[in-house]
Amino acid sequence: MNDQTSPATTVVETDVIIVGAGPVGLFAVFELGLLDIKCALVDILDKPGGQCAELYPEKPIYDIPGYPIITGEGLVEKLMEQIAPFHPTLHLGQMVESLAREPDGHFRMTTDAGTTFLGKVVVIAAGGGSFQPKRPPVPGIEEYEGTSVHYAVRRMEDFRGHDVLIVGGGDSALDWTLNLQPLAKSLTLLHRRDDFRAAPDSVKKMRELVEAGKVKLALGQVSGLKGAAGQVSHAIVKDKDGAEVHHPVTRILPFFGLTMKLGPVANWGINLDENLIPVDTATFESSEKGIFAIGDINTYPGKLKLILCGFHEAALMAQAAVHVVAPDKKVVFQYTTSSSSLQKKLGVI
Ligand SMILES: Cc1cc2nc3c(=O)[nH]c(=O)nc-3n(C[C@H](O)[C@H](O)[C@H](O)COP(=O)(O)OP(=O)(O)OC[C@H]3O[C@@H](n4cnc5c(N)ncnc54)[C@H](O)[C@@H]3O)c2cc1C
Repeated sequence: MNDQTSPATTVVETDVIIVGAGPVGLFAVFELGLLDIKCALVDILDKPGGQCAELYPEKPIYDIPGYPIITGEGLVEKLMEQIAPFHPTLHLGQMVESLAREPDGHFRMTTDAGTTFLGKVVVIAAGGGSFQPKRPPVPGIEEYEGTSVHYAVRRMEDFRGHDVLIVGGGDSALDWTLNLQPLAKSLTLLHRRDDFRAAPDSVKKMRELVEAGKVKLALGQVSGLKGAAGQVSHAIVKDKDGAEVHHPVTRILPFFGLTMKLGPVANWGINLDENLIPVDTATFESSEKGIFAIGDINTYPGKLKLILCGFHEAALMAQAAVHVVAPDKKVVFQYTTSSSSLQKKLGVI
């Protein structure tokens, strides 16, 4: 599989452009692949798996057919293995911004990373929308984002030798406290109260580091930042009594969770119903010919936001999309158990 972040100005030509590499977008590659349809997947996250990978990688899921128990991460691994024979191109870390139809009926889609996709069909598997970190209500924080203030750790080395302030009380805040402490010059964990929502073992380890004087635990909220030219020098922390303390810091990691925003999908001219895409349940096509919507992003009478429902939708979508991609193709319904032609595509014979 071509796992890549496309360089700027790349043009990718494919049969189907899939917006969203969550579990449903991934399975769509399989169903389309069985019909000889090539796919490109785009996702704003830096890894495939959507909500399963980002929100609950280690939680067990109990209602995936055939798996009495599987974690979010485990399911994504299995889906990636299942679609590997079809070699989809994966374009991660980029948000699809615009979608337009060309005079020849093909779709042109562009991302904020400068990639252009040309395809005959668009499948929107954008779930609840694009994941975006919640920004804490600190005046002027935007000025330091990407330089001193980061909402994710892309490279641990970027924090080596810095005075790091981690803000939050959940798993991300605690995990990064434990992981960055050995690299940082100093590390302060700041939370509103002395009560954490993270795994008990992480909380225990954090407290041991505080006891040993290796991590400083502060209670309160960031009320302001001081610095210049995008470089923070101090975080102003207000405690519960309203007293302000200036902490010298050079890197700040606020972990206030992620929100899912519909984002640019709202501007693509497709009919929406309360930010969801109404579809025809025979084909999962939207109000626009050639644009399909599957998984959590769609709506229809009886819709359930379950992974297994998204898988069913992917199968029916593929049967309809093939007629748009290859109008002259004769489609014969076949089982993977008994069709040697499907087995050849899967590389098992
Ligand atoms: C805590 C929790 C537990 C759950 N447990 C279960 C369970 O036990 N069983 C079950 O069936 N379901 C469960 N669900 C629901 C399940 O995770 C969703 O139904 C499923 O993830 C939907 O898959 P999807 O592929 O449609 O969307 P998502 O998983 O939301 O993936 C959509 C992807 O699209 C990307 N995207 C959106 N807009 C853009 C854009 N403009 N450009 C680029 N990328 C974009 C997003 O970044 C995201 O990665 C749970 C959900 C949560 C939060």
